[in-house]
Order: sequence, then C-alpha cells, then structure tokens
Amino acid sequence: MRLSKSCLGKEEIQAVSKILEIGYLGMGAEVQKFEMEISDFLSDETNVACVNTGTSALQLALQALGIGVGDEVLVPSLTFVASFQAVSATGATPVACDIDPNTGLLCLTDASKRVTSKTKALMYVLYASQSGDLDKVHEFATTYDLKVIEDAAHSFGCTYKNKKIGTISDVTCFSFDGIKNITSGEGGAVVSKDFELIERVRDLRLLGVEKDTERRFKRERSWDFDVKEQGWRYHMSEIMAAIGRVQLSKLEKNFAPKRRSFFEKYFAGLKEVEGISFLDGYEWENNHIIPHIMPIKVYGGLRDKMRSHLIDKEIEVGIHYKPNHLLGKFKTQYALPATEKFYNEILSLPLHPDLEDVDIENVIEEIQIFIKTEAS
Ligand SMILES: *Cc1c(COP(=O)(O)O)cnc(C)c1O
Repeated sequence: MRLSKSCLGKEEIQAVSKILEIGYLGMGAEVQKFEMEISDFLSDETNVACVNTGTSALQLALQALGIGVGDEVLVPSLTFVASFQAVSATGATPVACDIDPNTGLLCLTDASKRVTSKTKALMYVLYASQSGDLDKVHEFATTYDLKVIEDAAHSFGCTYKNKKIGTISDVTCFSFDGIKNITSGEGGAVVSKDFELIERVRDLRLLGVEKDTERRFKRERSWDFDVKEQGWRYHMSEIMAAIGRVQLSKLEKNFAPKRRSFFEKYFAGLKEVEGISFLDGYEWENNHIIPHIMPIKVYGGLRDKMRSHLIDKEIEVGIHYKPNHLLGKFKTQYALPATEKFYNEILSLPLHPDLEDVDIENVIEEIQIFIKTEAS
C-alpha cells in the first residue's frame, strides 16, 4: 500500500495529448487558463502566477517581497527542506524556530525570541493542512513588522474561517508536485491580492524579462526588452498546466471527499487506541480541510517499532519531516526541544484518493494488533 501517489485518469492523458498535438509547449494560453481557474477557485481578488515547483514559488515570493542577502526569515524547523532551501536561495538566512508540540505548527513564543533587526519575514508552514490561529500569526507579524509568506504546500483547497487559504496573508505559495492535493506533474503557484507583487513574480519566472508573460500568453516572443534584476527559468509549461486544469476540476468532486473520509475513518478507528494520538489543530466546523498527509504520534518510544511492523505488512509509512535544524546546511547552535521530540514520535499513514475503505481498515487493524501485542 502506497503512502501517497499521483492520482491520474484518462482525462489527464487526453489533455496532455491535446497539448502535444498543438505543439506549443513552453508557456502560453494553457498556463493563462490554469491561472485564471485557480483565481476563480480561490477568490476573484486573487492574482496567480504559476511556476515549475512549489520551491520556486517560495523563492520568487520572497524575492518579489524584496527579501534577500542580509535578511532573516523565521521558519519552523519542522517542514520539508524546500522551505529552507527557498529562503537560502534568495541569499537570506532561514532562522529555525520551534513548534507547538500538539500541532507541529510554528510556536510564536519561540519565534519571538529569534527576532532580530534583520528579521524581515515569517514563513508560516501549514503543516498537515492545519491553519492554526492565522489571526495570531498576523498579529505577531504586525508587532515585529514582518511579511507573512504562507507555505501552503499541504493546503490547496483548504479554508480558514470560511476564507480560502491563499486569500489571507501577504502571499501564499502552493505546490502541485506529484503527490499534493492536486498535481500539475511538478508545479507550484504564488498567489496574492497584491497585483504588483504577482506581476513581479511573473517577470522573475521568465529570467526577469519585463512583461514577457503577457506576450507568451499571446504566443509571441519578446525581442526587444529590458531586464533589471536576477531572474530565473521557473515558468510552468503548457503540459503541466493541462494536467493541473484537469486535476483542479476533480478536486472538490473526487479528491476532497476521499481524502476527508479516509481521514475521518482513521480518527474513528484509532482515537480510542492507547499510546497514539492525532494532531490537535483540526477544527472541522470552521475550517474546511482537505488533508494532504495523515500524521499520528506514537508514544513510549514505539514509533520505529510500529513503523517496522507496518512496513512488514506492506503498508508504506512516512516521517514528516526530518527537522531542518538537524541538517548539515542549516544546523543551529541551539536545540529545538519540541521539534526534536515530535520528530521521534511522528508517523504518517497512507493517504491518497486511490485508496479504498478496506485499505484504511487494514491499516487501523494492523496498528491495533501492534499496540495490543506491545501491551501484553
Ligand atoms: C511539497 C512541499 C514544498 C515544495 O514543493 P515542491 O513543489 O515539491 O517544490 C514546500 N513545502 C512543503 C511543506 C511541502 O510539503
């Protein structure tokens, strides 16, 4: 049983075939349509720039906000290394912060200790599709005069207090890599209400060539242009956009109900089991969640043993994530105790739309068997 996977059908194959028949692959009308559809999906006020990965989305969002060499960005250590690499790619320094042990989300008390005169932004990671208290995050940012970049790689399609993620902070970044809530093959998007900011991202994704996006959407090229800053080849291709558009059309109908029902099935089946727990940050009433991963915490030092048990039963599991402050490149002089403890307890169970109810029941049963055996 796979932990996660791309869930594709004949619709995606047809959409890609159509692009291949047209024979224009770079970035054009299909990407424009995908951007418009994402904007329609999130809110009319949202501007969208699609790029080649979620990581480049984060990097360009930071650069467009003016963050670079000499600046510091607060980031929870518990995130995919992409968040840290995106910060360091701009020349800025990612400053690892501790987490709330119950949710895995950034601990603002710890973050406040790490603010210096160089701190310019806070990269808030919506770990396991939780939002946490985004209002408090914004109060914090206002207090210290920081920009907020949401790393919402886990949260495409989720809402916070009835507002879609992507419409709340200064800028939000999504990932459409193969296993996220929707995929465009690889891919990502930067979204913001700030039109100028997104226009900057649009130039940066095409080597900094000013207004190149507009021309490419019309299938024209720029022959006479200006470039004023460092840009990148980070645009999305037509093939990617074609996949992404089909996936977006399947999100609410097909993917979200499955992810939610498997998630709830896990809760129902495991909530009474001693020695394990779920994260605390899911408020189902106000926050419409489309869960990307299914982490549980395993206590009593039994995580690795449970992991081996499940792997023996051909159930693939994951550990999200190795803390960044323990990696060679991002090693800190200080400890982050909540993060380190969390890292030793966390285990992600299979979650993707191609699973069936019996698969989830099988995982639940194997965990129950494991816990019973350990207790006796
Ligand atoms: C997937 C992911 C990213 C990066 O997205 P890519 O599209 O894989 O580059 C960033 N942050 C988090 C938390 C992620 O899970």
